[in-house]
Amino acid sequence: MRLSQFPLATSKETPADAQVISHQLMLRAGFIRSLGSGLYTWLPIGLRTLRKIEAIVREEMNRAGALELSMPVVQPAELWQDSGRWEVMGAEMLRFKDRHQNDFCLGPTHEEVITHHVKQDFRSYRQLPVNYYQIQTKFRDERRPRFGVMRAREFLMKDAYSFHMDAEDLGREYQNMRQAYIRIFTRLGADFRAVKADSGNIGGAMSEEFHILAGSGEDLLAVAENGTYAANVEAAETRPSGKPRAAATAALSKVATPGQKTCEQVSKFLNVPLTGKVKLLVVKAAEGASASGLVAIALRGDHQLNEIKAAKHPLIASPMTLADPQDVQRVFGCEVGYLGPVGCPVPLIADYAAAEVADFVCGANDNDHHLTGANWGRDCAEPQTADLRVIAEGDPSPDGVGTIRYYRGIEGGHIFQLGTKYSAAMKLTVLNEGGQAVTPQMGCYGIGVSRLVAAVIEQSHDAGGMIWPDAIAPFRLIICPIGSDKSAAVKSAADTLYRELQAAGVDVVIDDRGNRPGSMFADADLIGIPHRIVIGDKSLATGQFEYKARRAEKAELIDASTAAVLAK
Ligand code: ATP
Ligand code: MG
Ligand code: MG
Ligand code: MG
Repeated sequence: MRLSQFPLATSKETPADAQVISHQLMLRAGFIRSLGSGLYTWLPIGLRTLRKIEAIVREEMNRAGALELSMPVVQPAELWQDSGRWEVMGAEMLRFKDRHQNDFCLGPTHEEVITHHVKQDFRSYRQLPVNYYQIQTKFRDERRPRFGVMRAREFLMKDAYSFHMDAEDLGREYQNMRQAYIRIFTRLGADFRAVKADSGNIGGAMSEEFHILAGSGEDLLAVAENGTYAANVEAAETRPSGKPRAAATAALSKVATPGQKTCEQVSKFLNVPLTGKVKLLVVKAAEGASASGLVAIALRGDHQLNEIKAAKHPLIASPMTLADPQDVQRVFGCEVGYLGPVGCPVPLIADYAAAEVADFVCGANDNDHHLTGANWGRDCAEPQTADLRVIAEGDPSPDGVGTIRYYRGIEGGHIFQLGTKYSAAMKLTVLNEGGQAVTPQMGCYGIGVSRLVAAVIEQSHDAGGMIWPDAIAPFRLIICPIGSDKSAAVKSAADTLYRELQAAGVDVVIDDRGNRPGSMFADADLIGIPHRIVIGDKSLATGQFEYKARRAEKAELIDASTAAVLAK
């Protein structure tokens, strides 16, 4: 590729509305452009990396024996009514009617469609097992699209669905997929962890997520140093001991990303009535909080009030505004660490460090985290590493899994054993060897292909820009000729090398736009091309080129004749 013929739109300005580094760099490097909330156009340079990730995913899925197909993005409502999810999915599913007033949705996932297909086509045990996958657009009307393609509304997912005669065979395929995922994430050059997960509204018993570790990750992972235990803290709460993990609690409270958690789920986890044993102290009421609908989290003990309805409270005649936090304390009689309107972002418990409490409850009113028994001094240690990936060191856990470390992670993939949830609901059966109708076991396996582009950048960048591993770089090697408009020798050496590398099958690009060295290097660094060869009159005089790996501090001189070999 010649950059003179390639539309590269790089910029030095950090976009004001991009909060995380991957989003900033993807905009600055011209990987993506926004079309509206959670909608992105992939420009040619960005699409190269997206397609390379897609190719790795496809290769490993094929290697694992899965079969590629393609299902419609538009799905009839009947399928979702059959499975019982038309109601459950809520606002995240975008629904619409066609000209005949029939209901449809844009597929947020494809369990219903694939189950429908298997129901139409499959009759006998001889046709099973099967594992179908597609790499296709999904639409989820996310409540808070953000971080660019990381939490978009329209995004690219690899989703696979397997069908089995029995649970044992499902278990076998689950392990097969798990291994395929390990190969995929390893080939991406990512530092990742596979952790136990909550299966959410997809359903099913066993599930694991694959997380790329990064300080900006929305999830919190608890990982035993000795490798015996790893879980998303969402799932860690319901571990066999049944007890919340104190250290996870605290770590969570310290890093809970404002705006992530919903009140509904908090209520589900903990619906403890106030006992009134604790001392009164209101630390803070969120701005705009009114007692007619708010969440209160007690600082000591086990108390939490969800969606307090002032009108229903015997002590309050009419809804009151919490102009004075003392009002709350008077009315609710608890030591409250946080008060906020339902659905508003939850502040970090760290805001309340001044309270110096020993054991406290932490929670969030916007999506599914609430844990008890945290201890400020013990659990809320300062981050152990500069990059904030390891955020706290816990106590040895009570059930002997060793020291737990906490990481923030970006969910890149998720595998589930669904069991018969969809096959039973949609009345899918096949005949077994004895001629009896059997409801097949199902598994499903997702990877956020477009999210992975951003996730890898979160993990791999520096002040100059992105740093791509060879396998998924938009280009593997860039040739930067210096002053080629003036020097015929430079131009000819650069063109020759370019042709040689191309012939050798190297994914090479030449910056023949005639830019000055500084601007050429800045672009190459921003885009994160892993290898750079600079050709200038001075080194050329001694038959040498300058080579620099993107991660290396300094360039080195290499013999011109070995350049092609080096790029291999
Ligand atoms: P999250 O917890 O981040 O909302 P999810 O659990 O809802 O993700 P799954 O249903 O497990 O997502 O979908 C499989 C994969 O699709 C996820 O592991 C993730 O990598 C990706 N994904 C999910 N939602 C989005 C999104 N809004 N934008 C980009 N990728 C997404
Ligand atoms: Mg989601
Ligand atoms: Mg998730
Ligand atoms: Mg998931």
